[in-house]
Amino acid sequence: MDQAAYVKAVLVRLEARYGKHPRTQLRHRNLTELFVAVLLSPQCNDKQVNKVTEGLFRRYHTFDDYAGADIKELRKDLGGLNYYKTKARYLKRSAGIVAGRFGGKVPKSIAELTELYGVGRKVANVILNEGYGIDEGIAVDTHCGRVSRRLGLSRHRDPAMVELDLMRKVPRDEWSRTSNLLIALGRDACTARNRECVRCTLRKICPSSLAK
Ligand code: SF4
Repeated sequence: MDQAAYVKAVLVRLEARYGKHPRTQLRHRNLTELFVAVLLSPQCNDKQVNKVTEGLFRRYHTFDDYAGADIKELRKDLGGLNYYKTKARYLKRSAGIVAGRFGGKVPKSIAELTELYGVGRKVANVILNEGYGIDEGIAVDTHCGRVSRRLGLSRHRDPAMVELDLMRKVPRDEWSRTSNLLIALGRDACTARNRECVRCTLRKICPSSLAK
């Protein structure tokens, strides 16, 4: 099978298992909430973030609210998260920039988003993909990186390099769902601790399969 056919076969099988467009598990009702939830997500699982944002979204509604928040209060509100002090600082500062320079609207490009505090390419890609349906890159988190390596789509450990490999190999109109499909597999059969190849939908085509 050539590479294009392999990538297509991977996506077709993942789609059949996890749905055409699996969405982020981070709960949000609008772009502001999406931005905040994704900004808070690094080094935390989605459940932890959802637990914290449940109360947070009742107290703060706009970027002005976050920008004007008392930093001690905001730290308390984010207390259930890893690195909550740093995240409180990032959130307050970034919200101030979005409220001021961008008129309260979440920016629509990786270049603008990554100027904000606490926003790297992964966070920016999730916001663009989920919030605007824009495919400027591919969000590579720990699951996406690990599964990409096991599938032979990248050899790299650096997420930026994995993203480049995926962008070269996956057709552009598939970028946004590729990340979520690989993440779904990485949370299901192909976890960091375990490769449950016998029940994996890719077991017959994956080069790392233990169940061919
Ligand atoms: S076949 Fe095994 S190694 Fe390959 S993606 Fe599935 S669980 Fe991971």
